Formats: sequence, structure tokens, C-alpha cells
Amino acid sequence: MFPDTTGPWDAVIVGAGPVGLLLASELAVQDLRVTVLERAASPSALPKANGIVGQSALDLAERGLLAGTGLRVISPPRFQFGPLVLDLGVGPENPLHILPVPQRRLEELLERRAVAHGAQVHRGCEVTGFTQGDAGVAVEFRAGDAPASLEARYLVGCDGAHSFVRKQAGIGFPGFTSDEIARLARITIPPAQITRAGDGLAIAGVGRVAAMRTNPMPGGGFTIAPAAVLDSTASEDLYLISTHEPRGEAEASDSLSMDELRASLRRVLGADLPFTDAAAARSTVGNSRQADAYRSGRVFLSGDAAHVFNAGGSALNVGLQDAFDLARRLAAVLRDGAPAAELDGYESVRRPAGERALQHTRAQAALARRDDSSSALRQVLGTVIADPAAARSLARLIEAA
Ligand SMILES: Cc1cc2nc3c(=O)[nH]c(=O)nc-3n(C[C@H](O)[C@H](O)[C@H](O)COP(=O)(O)OP(=O)(O)OC[C@H]3O[C@@H](n4cnc5c(N)ncnc54)[C@H](O)[C@@H]3O)c2cc1C
Repeated sequence: MFPDTTGPWDAVIVGAGPVGLLLASELAVQDLRVTVLERAASPSALPKANGIVGQSALDLAERGLLAGTGLRVISPPRFQFGPLVLDLGVGPENPLHILPVPQRRLEELLERRAVAHGAQVHRGCEVTGFTQGDAGVAVEFRAGDAPASLEARYLVGCDGAHSFVRKQAGIGFPGFTSDEIARLARITIPPAQITRAGDGLAIAGVGRVAAMRTNPMPGGGFTIAPAAVLDSTASEDLYLISTHEPRGEAEASDSLSMDELRASLRRVLGADLPFTDAAAARSTVGNSRQADAYRSGRVFLSGDAAHVFNAGGSALNVGLQDAFDLARRLAAVLRDGAPAAELDGYESVRRPAGERALQHTRAQAALARRDDSSSALRQVLGTVIADPAAARSLARLIEAA
């Protein structure tokens, strides 16, 4: 179906990732007329996030999104802060909440909620330009070869780290690119080659490693997680792995050959990992950046379009909180007649929240570096977080967003 180009939309959202879809569903629930334009013709099959860490997990559950899905929010007794492990205990004093869910599944649930409440989601529609006027924004897009345009009261760029909307609005994205590269894959390890050992795994030829967190190795970092922990339907012999190494001249790529994956594992582990099969192998390079502004007139930025972090686990939590906040404000103005100044609060609340996440993710990345100063920092902070109150205080930073 071609997007309806008659009359102004309350909001046009660029990008059907988790942040755009949550925003669409939150606005549609409040009876606003909203459409999502997504460049890709179909959802990407590449695995991305494995879960939401923090407040957003609770907020989604509160909205009934998990009902009947078998998904549930948990409070993990231990969680990683860079290479360190926070011992958070069990019971009400544990401040951290996690929703283990593959990103694709999360997107399906959010899209279903958005569409059920009347939002439209159009795939194969690339936004190519926009012009702001006093009362709205004219949005140009291309569906196949056909150029078209529609009118919106507000435009929201939820179009990811390379955001077209951000660039078109002339908003800078300062920060830095990591000098490390991560190589990721979903692999099969035959049961005879791997066994549970305490809260870790014993792998033939490699030895004992911690599960679900980064293992510092002489050649870099290595993480491994049983896929069944995140997806109860996954086969028991499937594992999600990643290596972290100095980047050198290497570039991020959505397709990584088996030879490249094996070579990286050998460099990091100093041994051959006994896997028989690998899927979704790719490499990524971390960035730590934040948009100079989250708003330009009637145009807003949310999610990765506004911030990217160089340590895992926080991006979705922060991005989803952007969407909750912006939806509340747009509904107040568009539906309840609040003054337009209500929208100024988005920048003054969400930008500092992004800055806090930028800080703690940069701190986590610094702790993981393989130099003498970082090693000393790990020792000192490791002693500090042996105190459960200190560990919980760091967990609250991650939870808040
Ligand atoms: C391997 C990997 C693992 C990760 N693990 C985690 C994790 O465990 N926890 C976590 O919190 N985060 C994780 N992340 C980060 C998380 O995936 C991102 O933060 C999340 O996808 C951001 O969502 P978003 O909706 O802001 O943007 P995106 O998901 O990037 O969606 C943006 C959408 O906009 C579309 N688009 C772009 N330009 C246009 C245009 N001009 N017109 C129309 N559409 C356009 C794109 O096609 C895309 O679908 C991981 C990322 C990767 C790559």
C-alpha cells in the first residue's frame, strides 16, 4: 500500500527500527495520525540486540507488550560493567532489569502494537528530503522509482546511526570511532566439545571461559553466550560469540568469511574454537557519538540517530526512553493543547540522559583496554565494587537512561 499523501500527518517517523516503531505505537495509542517510512523493503535478517537492559524493559512490560509472548523481565544476579562483574544479588535491592529478546522479535511486537492502534508502516519508502514551514514539514520520499511527498506536523528521524534526517537538518554528530573491531557470529558447537562449568563453559582445546561477558585474552576479548538463554526455541548447541581486537586497517562489514572468523578466533584465543557451522557472521566498529541537538524546529531525532555508544547493552534502553518521552510531549501538544514549549523539554531531558550513557559506556570501554593504566583501573574499581552498595550504584546508572 502506498502511503496516504492526503492531509497532514500528526507525525511522520523515518525508520522502522525499534525506536521508530515504539514511537509510532505510543503515538497511535493516543489516537494520533502517524506513519512510518522505512527504506528497506523487508526487515533485516541480521541479528542485532539480544535484549533490553534497564528501565525500558519494565515500561514495555507495563504496557502489556509481553502478554502471551513467553517473554519476561528478569533481574540478573550478576551483570557486566565493561570487563568487570557487578554482583547485584537477588531480591528487591537488585536495581537492574533485563528483557532478553532478539531485536527482530521486539520489532515485530512493536509493529503489531502500532498497526493495531492505527499507525501505518510503509517499507520500501526512502525519505530523500524535507522542508520546514511554519505549520509543518513537507517530506519527500521515494517508493520504488516513484518520488512522492506528504505533509506532517512533525518529522522524527529514527533512522539510525547514519541518520539522513540528522545530516539534512545540519546537526553535527561529534565523538570518536573505536580503534577496536568486533567480529560476531552465531555458531554451532557439538555437545561433546563444550560443557557447563559453574557459571562458565569448558570448551575443548580452549579451556574454561565465562559465559555472557567479555573474557580478556592475550590477543583481545572473547564473549560467548548460549543462544537458548536469549531464545528458548534455539537449539542447545547454538552459541553467540564475538571477538574484540585492535582494528588496524579493517573495516566493519555485514558479511564475514569463515576464514576471517576462524583467524580472528585463533588470534584472540590462541587456539581453534571447535565449531562446525557459523551463520550471520559480521564485523562492527564501535562509535561513541552524540548529536549536537535533538531538535531543529519541527524535526526531532531519537535512538541511534541521536546517540551511539562504544560499549554494549545501553543503546536500546536509551533510545526507547527517547521515544517514550517524545511521544508524551507530542501527544500533550497535538492532542491535549499543551503549549509548544512542552516540546523544548525533549532536548533538555533526553540530551543529558544520552550524555550520562555516553559517559558510563566510555568508562566501560576504557576499563576493557589492554594497557597498564586500564589494568590498574580494573584492579581499583574491582575492589570498590566488591562492596554490594557500590555495585548496585553502577547498576542504577545502567538502569536509568
Ligand atoms: C550486533 C549488534 C548487537 C547489538 N546488541 C545490542 C544489545 O544487546 N542491546 C542494546 O541495547 N543494543 C544493541 N545493539 C544496538 C541496537 O541494535 C541499536 O541501538 C538499535 O537498532 C537502534 O534502533 P533505532 O530504531 O534507533 O535504529 P535502527 O535499528 O538502526 O533503525 C533505523 C532504520 O531506519 C531506516 N532508514 C535509514 N535511513 C532511512 C531513510 N532515509 N528513509 C527511510 N528509512 C531509513 C533503516 O533502514 C533502519 O531500518 C546492537 C547492535 C548490533 C549491530
